[in-house]
Amino acid sequence: MNLKETIFEKFKDGIFLNTFCPHCKKQIWPPSNNCKDCFNKTVLKEIENKGILLEMSYSHIPKQENFFGIGDFSGIRILGTIVEKNIKVNDSITIYNIKIIDNKISIEFGNYNK
Ligand SMILES: [Zn+2]
Repeated sequence: MNLKETIFEKFKDGIFLNTFCPHCKKQIWPPSNNCKDCFNKTVLKEIENKGILLEMSYSHIPKQENFFGIGDFSGIRILGTIVEKNIKVNDSITIYNIKIIDNKISIEFGNYNK
């Protein structure tokens, strides 16, 4: 299993993993086998699946018409699609679903209290 598949599989068990650089003590998102700064190997680390929606906007790109936003999860900024319509900026959000599309991790945000 590659990195994205491992993250995808673990999410099915309710565990949200991200890559972490033990050298820089930094979260690496999007997940990568190597740190972007020091190129050392990263390790997988569990992250609390609760964040805050920092920004949101609407995408008019054909076949991708949707609300998307940037969520802050323990200091990691993650871009995702907003699947519930009543989410506003500064709301608590959760990663509702993880998909792999064209070998990229695609994230869906939902309301935290559900
Ligand atoms: Zn590093």
